[in-house]
Amino acid sequence: MMTVYNFAAGPATLPDEVIQQIQTELPSLQGSGMSILEISHRSAMFDEIINTAQQDLRDLMAIPDDYEVLFFQGGGTGQFAAVPLNLATTHHRIALLDSGHWAAKAGDEATKLGVTVDTLATTKGTHYDKLPALTMTLPADTYDYMHICTNNTIEGTAYHALPKTSGVPLVGDMSSNIMAQRYNVSDFDLIFAGVQKNLGPAGVTIVIVKKSLIKEVDHIPSVFDYSLFAKKNSMPNTPPVFNIYATGLTLKWLKSIGGIDEIERRNQKKASLLYDFLDHSKVFNNPVKPADRSLTNVPFMTGDAKLDDAAVADLTDHGLMNLKGHRSVGGLRASLYNAMPFEGVQALVNELYHFEKNL
Ligand code: PMP
Repeated sequence: MMTVYNFAAGPATLPDEVIQQIQTELPSLQGSGMSILEISHRSAMFDEIINTAQQDLRDLMAIPDDYEVLFFQGGGTGQFAAVPLNLATTHHRIALLDSGHWAAKAGDEATKLGVTVDTLATTKGTHYDKLPALTMTLPADTYDYMHICTNNTIEGTAYHALPKTSGVPLVGDMSSNIMAQRYNVSDFDLIFAGVQKNLGPAGVTIVIVKKSLIKEVDHIPSVFDYSLFAKKNSMPNTPPVFNIYATGLTLKWLKSIGGIDEIERRNQKKASLLYDFLDHSKVFNNPVKPADRSLTNVPFMTGDAKLDDAAVADLTDHGLMNLKGHRSVGGLRASLYNAMPFEGVQALVNELYHFEKNL
């Protein structure tokens, strides 16, 4: 069978080892005679699974003790609502850096909830080809927090250095580069991320939040209530049992290969290979300012939609899957998340090279 590499933007490729372990353990978890698909979230077995996943997250990201690690459902989109519901309770006003589609969506969701959103900088005018620069000092006593999207999945930019918020809490949507590169958790007051790109199958959203920001808030749906989730070990109701289990396996895999420092080194190597090819190509182009380029999502195009489609079809024929770009950007997009092996990127670059040569 042809080797297949899946470059999807999420849900995305998982480590082979994790898929194999799931397959082995699926009929009977730890010799219990019951599948992970069947066990109660109130069982001792699941307690161990969720606690281990939390601890592995803490170890891998070096999360300080004054932060909670919580698991939600509802995805990144759920957190676009949960964050303002929990945090925008004093000024009812937040600051936003508009770096792309997902940053703007977060702002829209906060607006729906009656929160005032000040977009302090945007690069929309140049199709988000770089990150917006924050040139002002944030005023005191004005904002409940500032929202940024650390990696812009669609546009292919990422923050490698963080904006200065002058004491205003910083919220980072890390959905597409959590644990793909090292960030200092204490530079943020809250980080959230769906796991379905770098850490597991869709269905779990990680929230890492400074304990001092967690308040009891009236009129908040229980499924979004940080204070309730912190009190109930993320289980005030039934959690996504299988997805937390599978995320736990991926975290163990990440630990076994050397953690974030090692995966970041691998991700740099994979991304460099593709960017180098694109920068030398006479046909394909990556439109992003080099200093702001993402390690995990690489959009590229020829400038001719028919030729882009032909390239996608050719790559698909060679087992290089899901490379069609997001509809808002067009062209192609390669997502190079943690579980994408270097060989996959080599195969992609080789085939792009052949495609270009044969034109
Ligand atoms: N934020 C970012 C950066 C994303 O890439 C995505 C999904 N692609 C979302 C938020 C929305 O996540 P979800 O689909 O889990 O709601």
